[in-house]
Amino acid sequence: MKIICIGRNYAEHAKELNNEIPSEPIVFLKPDTSILRDGEAFYLPDFSSDIHHELELVVKISKNGKNIDRKFAHRYYEEISLGIDFTARDLQQKMKERGLPWERAKAFDGSAPIGSFVSKSKFTDVQNVQIELKVNGESRQNSSTSLMLYPIDVIIENISKFITLKTGDLIFTGTPSGVAAIKKGDLLEGFLNNEKLISFEVK
Ligand code: ZN
Repeated sequence: MKIICIGRNYAEHAKELNNEIPSEPIVFLKPDTSILRDGEAFYLPDFSSDIHHELELVVKISKNGKNIDRKFAHRYYEEISLGIDFTARDLQQKMKERGLPWERAKAFDGSAPIGSFVSKSKFTDVQNVQIELKVNGESRQNSSTSLMLYPIDVIIENISKFITLKTGDLIFTGTPSGVAAIKKGDLLEGFLNNEKLISFEVK
């Protein structure tokens, strides 16, 4: 399986990092070794001193597909969850300045904690659900999937033009504003429409 991530998919987040609004989705990958299951602790790596949390809606692909039209994209996923796209912001900044790929900053071990999945049929519209991250009980990121620049169906259409999507693949759909550094001892909890789907500690 693979993890496909979308960058700068919420205007407020692009703005907080002084990035331009992209004219098409920004795409990067994480390997399966980046996954942490719900409840597993995240260990701060020694190669960065500025690891940021990015709370994101995660979509699980349920059927193989290529060149999927946005009209039919909803047939290719049944379950959603929340994930954290951990980012070594100090490394990423250096790579961006030099025009290099982001993998060292984005694809390291444990950089993709993923919560429990729930059926999308629980929601009247997955493109209008609330996603919230609390750190030590305090709300840090709180937004609606209605604010995505590229909705899920458009993301699936766009990615599947150049990467075949397979059953079990995960798509991280981008983070809203409020990204910030984490530290040892922090408790991170993610909520989808107030239902807690992910909870773990930073060590
Ligand atoms: Zn992200």
